[in-house]
Amino acid sequence: MTVDERIAAARLWAAHRAPYLASAVFALRPVYLEAATDPPVPDPEFRAFPTDTRWNLHVDPGTALATPVEEIGWWMLHHVGHLVRGHAARSPVRPGPGAEAHRWNQAADAEINDDLEAERLPGPAGVLSPSALGLPVNRTAEEYVPMLDVLADALGNGGRALSEAIDCGSAVDGMDRSYQDTGSGDGLTHLDRELLERSIAAGIQDRISARSEIPSGWRRWATERTRPAIDWRARLGAMIRRGLSTTAGQVDFSYARPSRRAGAYHGVIPPAMVRPAPDTVLVIDTSGSVTNDVLRLLLAEVTGIARPSGRLRAICCDVAAHPVQTVRRAADIELTGGGGTDMRAGLTAAAALRPRPDLIVVLTDGETPWPEHRPPAHTVVCLIGDGGHAPAWASVARIPEGARR
Ligand SMILES: [Zn+2]
Repeated sequence: MTVDERIAAARLWAAHRAPYLASAVFALRPVYLEAATDPPVPDPEFRAFPTDTRWNLHVDPGTALATPVEEIGWWMLHHVGHLVRGHAARSPVRPGPGAEAHRWNQAADAEINDDLEAERLPGPAGVLSPSALGLPVNRTAEEYVPMLDVLADALGNGGRALSEAIDCGSAVDGMDRSYQDTGSGDGLTHLDRELLERSIAAGIQDRISARSEIPSGWRRWATERTRPAIDWRARLGAMIRRGLSTTAGQVDFSYARPSRRAGAYHGVIPPAMVRPAPDTVLVIDTSGSVTNDVLRLLLAEVTGIARPSGRLRAICCDVAAHPVQTVRRAADIELTGGGGTDMRAGLTAAAALRPRPDLIVVLTDGETPWPEHRPPAHTVVCLIGDGGHAPAWASVARIPEGARR
């Protein structure tokens, strides 16, 4: 079989094995890389058929020819997991080399692979499996990171590794790879992805209603995805807390270990068990398309979660960023602005603040241009109403316009 035929056969295999993900499997866009040698030989960098956030699946001809069709199909299902569950947007990984990216990739793999195992689709040799490592299943990537840290230390003392070094591409951490074609921007747009995700989630819900067996990770994802309006407070809370814990060090597991990010706190090493107060900046869309009543309500929610006590910085933003306000309570924020919207100005101002914020929370209806790259802090976008959009690098909580207590 040619490379093309193997990819086509792998898609059919994947769609057949997990019919509730069939539309996603067919939305993957194979990008054929040039073979470095003739005849082509497998390049280990492309062992996983790495994907990017525009759903491009990178196919190294040598790897495709040497990998069984079923295994290529398994990687397709695996990548659908990374893409649909927004691992790139959830990633705590920052630019630059380091073990952090590798650990996040492993944790994201753990979140996906247990669902594949539940479908009796174990991964190829060397991929990470929570159950094989004795870890609990059905956890999120954020929960697996500290578990894997602890386990890697223990295994490392015996000279063993958690898994082989596998790179799943920028779909896992949002960092562009050198082989990606970033120029032409080919691939699924934000709208394509949004519609695709909604239809996959609706399809899974239908199957749940019809009492089909669906792995629990997918069940949880589809339920969250189709009912954002019901659970927006819980979702927003989870996102902000997730942002805080990834910026403030692994709080829950830090009891036995000093913070690895001690340097971030101006040289003062925080005592174990004490969460350093994360510095949160709010960027508020005051262009007028969101009413002040709705903003006030949300500000109270957000500050209750992110900064129950202490000072808080806020930047109002319309076409330009207004001066930063430092307040003690959400009610003290003066909502100034009007006219057009450009949240790029607000985010640039937030990123330039000193001391540098740990977490940025944006409140907007999303009818705005966004920066192409993530700001240098974890960013949560509260998207108010049904319209608008948020960038792929942000964690997003969609909030119904009529949100009331
Ligand atoms: Zn992966």
